[in-house]
Amino acid sequence: MSSNRKVAILGATGAVGQRFIQLLQGHPYFKIEVLAASERSAGKKYKEACSWTMESNLPREIAEMHVAHTDVESVEKAGNIDIVFSALPGDLAGPVETEFAAVYPVFSKASAHRMDSDVPLIIPEVNPDHVALIPIQKKARGWNGFISTDPNCSTIQLAMTLKPLMKFGLRQVIVSTMQALSGAGYPGVASLDIIDNVVPFISKEEEKLECEPLKILGTFDGNFVRNANFVLSASCNRVNVKDGHLESVFVKLGENPSVDEIEEAFRKFKGEPQKLKLPSAPENPIVVRKEPNRPQPRIDRQEGKGMSVVVGRIRNDSIMTLKYMCLGHNTIRGAAGGGILSAELMIAKGLA
Ligand code: NAP
Repeated sequence: MSSNRKVAILGATGAVGQRFIQLLQGHPYFKIEVLAASERSAGKKYKEACSWTMESNLPREIAEMHVAHTDVESVEKAGNIDIVFSALPGDLAGPVETEFAAVYPVFSKASAHRMDSDVPLIIPEVNPDHVALIPIQKKARGWNGFISTDPNCSTIQLAMTLKPLMKFGLRQVIVSTMQALSGAGYPGVASLDIIDNVVPFISKEEEKLECEPLKILGTFDGNFVRNANFVLSASCNRVNVKDGHLESVFVKLGENPSVDEIEEAFRKFKGEPQKLKLPSAPENPIVVRKEPNRPQPRIDRQEGKGMSVVVGRIRNDSIMTLKYMCLGHNTIRGAAGGGILSAELMIAKGLA
C-alpha cells in the first residue's frame, strides 16, 4: 500500500518532533507539510528555531520551512494537511489536540487524552483491536477526525514484554526504571543535576507507568476498554544516558513457567504490524539477548531500527515468579516511531 498523506507535526522543534522529522524522511505513506511549535519559534525558519540533535543531518528542505503557530487556522494557512502528529507538552496538548481532532486524525505522544475512555492508547503489536474506539469516539464527539494516543515511553516497552506473559496469568508487576535524558525533552535536565549523578524522581512518571499498562492490556468489550486485572508498582529514575530506557522488571504469575518457556514466549511474540508488514514494523518486536550483561542502552537501543524492545537476564525469582531487564529506545519506539506505526495501522484498517 502506498499513499501520500500530508502531515503536520505539532511540537516539531522538540526532542520527539525532531525524531518525527527524521523518521518520516522517505516514508511511503507520509509527507511533511507543516511544522508547528510555540510562539518562540513561529515565523522563523526551522533551522533557526530548532537546535537539531538527531544523529543524521537536518534535511535541507525541512531546514528552510517556516514554523507555524500551533492552532488550526495557522496550520491550515501553512499548508493542506491530512493528519496530525502531536509532540506537544502534556499540559498544553489537551485543548489543542481537541481542536485539531474535530477536523483531522491526531496521533498524540502527549499524556493529555491517554486515559479518556473513548480514546485508544495503542501499541500496535499489543492491542490493535482497541482502534475500535475510534468510530465510537467520532460519533460521541461529533468529530470528522479523532485522537489516538501512544503510551508513555517507559510504558511501551514494559507493556510489550508483559503481553506475552499474560497467558501464564499475570498477577503482580514491580518495575524500576533507568530513564534516558532525551526522555525529558530538549534541553531537558540541567547538566549540573545529572553529571556524576542519578536523579531518583521523574515528575508524574510513576503514576503513568502504574495505570497505562492496565488500559493497554485490558479488553475491549464492544463499547469501552475494561482494565486488565493485575497490580503494578513503579519506581522511576533519571540516569546519565542520552537515549534508551532500561527497566528492571519483577513479575508474579499464576503459573510457574521455566525460563526457557518465558524466553520462547518473548521470541515468538509478533503482532498485526508484522502480519500486515507495516513499513515501520520491526521483524521482531521483542529481541532476547542471552549475554549476562545485556541489554545495554548504548549497544542495544538501535535494535530493529530502534523499534524492537530488547530483553535479557531472564531469571526465576524466589519472591516473585521471574525477573528480567528490558530496554527500549524512548524517542523511537517510545515516541515518534511508535506514533508513526500507530498511524500506519489506522491506515491499514481504513480508519485514517
Ligand atoms: P520538548 O523537547 O520539550 O519539545 C516540546 C515541543 O513543544 C517544542 O517543539 C516546543 O516548541 C513545543 N511547545 C512548547 N510550548 C508550546 C506552546 N505553548 N505552544 C505550542 N508549542 C509549544 O518535549 P519532547 O520530549 O519532544 O516531548 C513532547 C511530548 O512527547 C510530551 O508530551 C512528552 O511527554 C511526550 N513524550 C516524550 C518522549 C521522549 O522520549 N522525549 C517520549 C514519549 C512521549 P518551542 O521549541 O518553540 O518551544
